[in-house]
Amino acid sequence: MMKTCPSCGTELRQRYRFCHECGENVEDLDVDITEEEARELRKSEFWIGIGCFIFVLSAVIIIIGFLFFSYR
Ligand SMILES: [Zn+2]
Repeated sequence: MMKTCPSCGTELRQRYRFCHECGENVEDLDVDITEEEARELRKSEFWIGIGCFIFVLSAVIIIIGFLFFSYR
């Protein structure tokens, strides 16, 4: 879970690009993500995708409905 700065050994939070203690670039350090966390991440991305799709779809339906009724 935690990664440590190779320069000063400070424990760093995930997704930090730079060490907050010494400024060392830690972007390309391996971050240990468990299989469980990776699955949760994929699942949330999936639902965000579904949400975007439904949003776009309903917008299209509203626009088509609006055009349909305004041309009558
Ligand atoms: Zn450091």
